[in-house]
Amino acid sequence: SKPVVAIVGRPNVGKSTLFNKISGKRISIVEDIPGVTRDRIYAEAEWTGRTFSLIDTGGIEPFSQDIIMLQMKRQAEVAIETANVIVFVVDGQEGITSTDQEVANMLRKTSKKVVLACNKIDSPKYMNNIYEFYNLGLGEPIGISAGQALGLGDLLDEVVSGF
Ligand code: GDP
Ligand code: MG
Repeated sequence: SKPVVAIVGRPNVGKSTLFNKISGKRISIVEDIPGVTRDRIYAEAEWTGRTFSLIDTGGIEPFSQDIIMLQMKRQAEVAIETANVIVFVVDGQEGITSTDQEVANMLRKTSKKVVLACNKIDSPKYMNNIYEFYNLGLGEPIGISAGQALGLGDLLDEVVSGF
């Protein structure tokens, strides 16, 4: 069966935007009604001739820090169990948060390949923002802009190298 790639990260970092850019479909952003449960979304994707299943994680709209943390931990656990490669998305404009740190602590313990995507690097002026994310201990952060479709080739090269 095809390799599975899971996109994880806290709310609003741009996971669904990245999912849509990679899969070429606009199906993972459904509605912005608080409290609405959004299921994990699957798509078939392809890069340099290699096909894989892509999973976008989302879930309940956050209404407290505790819920976000719990949700994140569960999603990271599921990703660690089921995915071949995990794309951990962080917000390059906001910097490292405690939730990022908690998730990174879990991801550091897996032998699965983890690709650290530092999103919202929309222009060169944000490029220096990526360096603080080395502190997550997950290797080199790859600067991307899911919104502007920048850096996605480098990210996907790294992803498929893990199959
Ligand atoms: P998710 O909650 O992690 O799935 O995040 P979304 O994909 O729903 O995006 C959250 C917000 O960030 C939306 O307003 C997006 O338009 C915005 N966003 C996503 N990617 C980028 C990006 O590369 N740059 C900027 N500036 N905004 C982005
Ligand atoms: Mg989403």
